[in-house]
Amino acid sequence: MDRKNVQDLMKRFGQAPVPATYQGVLARLVKADPLLAGQKIRLVAYQAKFLNAHEADHGVIVISAGAWGKAAKLADDEIAAMLAHELAHLERRDSKRMACESLAYVGNTELTLPSAIRETTRESFSGESDLSLTLTALNQAREKAADARGAQILRMAGYDPRAMTRMLRKLAPPGVFSSTTHPAIDSRIRHVLESIDRSRDSH
Ligand SMILES: [Zn+2]
Repeated sequence: MDRKNVQDLMKRFGQAPVPATYQGVLARLVKADPLLAGQKIRLVAYQAKFLNAHEADHGVIVISAGAWGKAAKLADDEIAAMLAHELAHLERRDSKRMACESLAYVGNTELTLPSAIRETTRESFSGESDLSLTLTALNQAREKAADARGAQILRMAGYDPRAMTRMLRKLAPPGVFSSTTHPAIDSRIRHVLESIDRSRDSH
């Protein structure tokens, strides 16, 4: 997401106030992460019943107000897990990386970045070509990496890293995550658990 995507989202759904708990959890995570400490990371929300979260490449995390609605009921460490996953994307500059990958894979370097992104997004959702398979695999690898790094951030901030798996289960009802960009939840959960075991062994 870029600035414009965030503005569009706010215009379409309307901005929602972010509860103090969320701001507090975010501050705790950012402070504990040496790669992010001291950076200004903003958390904004939009009105929606469903639950969703994104990171934008200018240091903004965007969540839907569905996160604190009746449907979700996230425990504090699950809120932390949702934010830690997005912080991991921010650390890795995943939005920017995706934009550059679009240009790299679309094969026409004359295109502007926004048109290249549009092109590859269409391609990913068509789900038919070799390129769409490549893009899907890249997205899935990115999500798994953000889950694993998110679990490390949780641990650094004194939360249970396994909250990442509980959050994934809650965030995973059909339709919340697109299957082309987000690997099957069981596979993501297995991957996080393996990464948590590995980092425990190495301590
Ligand atoms: Zn993600």
